[in-house]
Amino acid sequence: MQAVVLDKPRQISLEAIAEPVLQAPADVLLRLTSTAICGSDLHIYEGRLGGGERMVIGHEPLGVVERVGSAVVNVRVGDRVTVPTHICCGFCPNCVHGYSAQCLTTNPGKAGAAYGYPGMGGYSGAQTELLRVPFGDANCLRLPGESGDRWEHDFVLLADALPTAFHATELARVRSGDIVVIYGAGAIGLLTAMCAFMRGAIRVFVVDAIPERLDKAGELGAQPIDLREGDPVERILEQIARERSGIAWRGEDANLGATVCIDAVGFQARDPHNYSVEKPTNVISDLSRLIAPNGRLSIIGVFLDSDPHATDEAAQHGDFLIPWGTLFKKGVTIGMGRDDDKRYNDHLRDAIVSGRIKPSAIVSHRLPLREAPDAFAKFDARSDGYIKVVLEP
Ligand SMILES: [Zn+2]
Ligand SMILES: [Zn+2]
Repeated sequence: MQAVVLDKPRQISLEAIAEPVLQAPADVLLRLTSTAICGSDLHIYEGRLGGGERMVIGHEPLGVVERVGSAVVNVRVGDRVTVPTHICCGFCPNCVHGYSAQCLTTNPGKAGAAYGYPGMGGYSGAQTELLRVPFGDANCLRLPGESGDRWEHDFVLLADALPTAFHATELARVRSGDIVVIYGAGAIGLLTAMCAFMRGAIRVFVVDAIPERLDKAGELGAQPIDLREGDPVERILEQIARERSGIAWRGEDANLGATVCIDAVGFQARDPHNYSVEKPTNVISDLSRLIAPNGRLSIIGVFLDSDPHATDEAAQHGDFLIPWGTLFKKGVTIGMGRDDDKRYNDHLRDAIVSGRIKPSAIVSHRLPLREAPDAFAKFDARSDGYIKVVLEP
């Protein structure tokens, strides 16, 4: 079968590999119908994580159960399912308490496993035709409909992208009446805007510098803010102030700001004065100015504890200078980290089926698996309107 294999940084190819087999009684084999490319695949592609060479990459599968091990009871051959990016066992303390991204048994000695991800258990990735799923009962989420139907691109986002976005709003406890600012209009930022509206936000600003992504944010009902047109902080604060002037808000000037701020960019934030240069602290720095007293800050964009290509020595160890004093003074609540996808994916499936949310609105391309090398290059360059790519095995 064919699989997308990373040869070395910025070089991937389609290779013929052996089909996986059931290795344990709890395993399931999935025949994939869609498999998406993620922004965090680009971290591997760019060599920022270290390792991953000769690995099948990808962690966002959707498919149909092809074979089940003798201990599997929850799914049957022919069932349409997706599985969370973060492989869970379902019985360790972290899984039991809903923290499946930190599963204690699937990556022995560490917390957290994933498909096609260096340092996360060595599991073969999902950008291929057939995928071995460990602990099939715990991981498989059963889905209605049939392959290729109107939900195909919605359900493929249930593996990672949509639960990650929802996690961002959960960490920030988004609720009715919130004014939300999201930095980053990639797939996660856009889906986070969707989730924020679903949870009752009254206004959502989305900050980015790529026109197609900003247009998409506008289509979703958010207010796009183009980084290239000047300081986004001043422009957003001015607008909030304009809308909240008058007797209703008399004496509340010190409360000015967003009640919720979300970083959907992570360590590859750009220097606003020179967009080709990385400045990993830029987003947190802007958000600390934007956030209102008692605001809630959620950081869902990835940060690394080791990055040999970082701009300075401290950042190479994941140490960053951030405006701690400002955040403390404002009494900001901060949440961050990997998404416990398993905790949310059944509710999000139901939200899709009921028509409450249509995440596939952000899918920009569907391409055959063989076009993965070209798709990675274009997605990495953020060219040609590449926002979210779904590959067809
Ligand atoms: Zn992903
Ligand atoms: Zn576990």
